[in-house]
Amino acid sequence: MHCRMCLEVWRPRAPLRRFFPFASASLFSTRASSESAEYDVVVVGAGLVGSAFASAIKSTTLTSSLKVALVDISPLKPSDAVSTLTDAEWLHHVPSPRVSTITPRSADFLRQAGSWNSTLEDRTARFQSMQVWDSLGHVRYEAQDAGCTDLGYVVENARLQGALHRHIQDVTDVEVLAPASISGLKLPDVDEVGLAEVELSDGRQLRARLVVGADGGRSRVRQLAGLRRIERRYPHHAVVSTVRTSEPSDTAWQRFLPSGPLALLPVTPTYSNIVWSTSPAHAAELAAMSSAEFAEAADRALHEADQESPEPAGTRAALAHRLGRAVFPLMERMPGPSPERPPRVLEAPGPRGSFPLTMAVAGTYVRRRMALIGDAAHTVHPLAGQGVNLGFYDAQTLAQVVHESASCGSDLGDLIHLRDYDRRRHVGNLPMLAALDSIYRIFDNEGGGMVYARASGMRVVNSSSAVKRTVMQYAMGHSSEDAHAMLQSPLSTLLSKATSILR
Ligand SMILES: Cc1cc2nc3c(=O)[nH]c(=O)nc-3n(C[C@H](O)[C@H](O)[C@H](O)COP(=O)(O)OP(=O)(O)OC[C@H]3O[C@@H](n4cnc5c(N)ncnc54)[C@H](O)[C@@H]3O)c2cc1C
Repeated sequence: MHCRMCLEVWRPRAPLRRFFPFASASLFSTRASSESAEYDVVVVGAGLVGSAFASAIKSTTLTSSLKVALVDISPLKPSDAVSTLTDAEWLHHVPSPRVSTITPRSADFLRQAGSWNSTLEDRTARFQSMQVWDSLGHVRYEAQDAGCTDLGYVVENARLQGALHRHIQDVTDVEVLAPASISGLKLPDVDEVGLAEVELSDGRQLRARLVVGADGGRSRVRQLAGLRRIERRYPHHAVVSTVRTSEPSDTAWQRFLPSGPLALLPVTPTYSNIVWSTSPAHAAELAAMSSAEFAEAADRALHEADQESPEPAGTRAALAHRLGRAVFPLMERMPGPSPERPPRVLEAPGPRGSFPLTMAVAGTYVRRRMALIGDAAHTVHPLAGQGVNLGFYDAQTLAQVVHESASCGSDLGDLIHLRDYDRRRHVGNLPMLAALDSIYRIFDNEGGGMVYARASGMRVVNSSSAVKRTVMQYAMGHSSEDAHAMLQSPLSTLLSKATSILR
């Protein structure tokens, strides 16, 4: 069976060589001619997303015979120190401060790609609840309300990357070219027949049917391909730290403070992770604190009651504030689960990191023989833990598109297929980018009755199991028609228009 797109470009003389040994040599690279350094796919960037994509290509019978190279500035690190620890040692092991929440859909994709192994499964924190709150309102989500066992996982980035790199090294025949970085890229025009030409900083030349840019937010591939992007720098830095807590937790906690969101995510029964987004000056202060000072500051920020927000200046804003304060008590009668208290923060061992935060999206993710995935294509505020998950959905969709091209023997780098990938992922990513940016703006605004308006909004969501189910399913990566309709915000439409101008 051929897909609709394949029918338009299907050429009977060009099927996959593995199944059709007399096929034209022009569509698939020859393993024997290694001196030609010719590949079907060159993936630039062996981060979480690039590694997952390379594994996914190697996980299906149809595409496993493609000749794939994986390029990275740093050597691969195929290790997982955690898997060799005894249970007792594991409980005392201090996790790295860089962690990611992984949605059930991403975990399924990684399992299919062969990279989510049993040690990762056993020693990865799962959360069944999520609580979002601010000075006045809260929403509590429970996995059982969405008809599932877990809302997500929290995993150290280095462990997940170690599992991906081990799989690539031990199980696949992906050719690893690392350490090496990309220094040049020549893509053929739409009407040209040639392959993409990649130049590495050590002078090596590669030719590829498809070059995949998975080289992060400052993507060199994106720059070399001349793709423009929309960018918004948030006036926030995120400070990350591992903290020891008073008790284990199966909840992902997020408190919106007037200065920005603060997340507490369980990583092991003993330790949790803090992601604290705040002004660059405050972030610098937090990063410079002693461990004891940081633990105390984080504990206070999670537990201390907020001061009532002062009445804003200006007649209209003050009126809105007063109206909100008068009406809000009525909302408190709405049903819904009560807020719970997060564990206490006892200490903050290990290093801390601070990252500037940006929302960005490339106008298009593709050119002839080139596609962007992950942070190379888009970056988001980490407030809902979606960044790497959107990257995994890109990797999954691009691997499907490559599979579809292979199944009908058409050229992997053909724009007709890559545009399908571009369309599918813009439709998936833009509403999420817009939703995250809107959440950021709503919680970044303390004036004109906004405190009461958003607390009322949270009450409404907390009391409606249908709305909560839709939000949870969307956040877990299972997008539904309802969620799409709900997220068709004016901002998402605006982003869609703006990106189309950049194409
Ligand atoms: C504080 C913070 C917390 C976050 N928390 C979460 C979370 O909970 N959940 C979530 O989903 N997301 C989260 N994110 C986002 C997530 O970390 C990123 O989306 C994700 O790491 C992007 O992965 P990537 O593989 O696309 O890019 P990267 O991780 O940036 O990997 C890029 C790779 O390309 C290589 N490279 C770069 N340039 C070149 C070159 N010129 N040549 C060759 N190789 C090159 C690099 O060495 C690297 O290996 C968070 C982000 C931040 C800042």
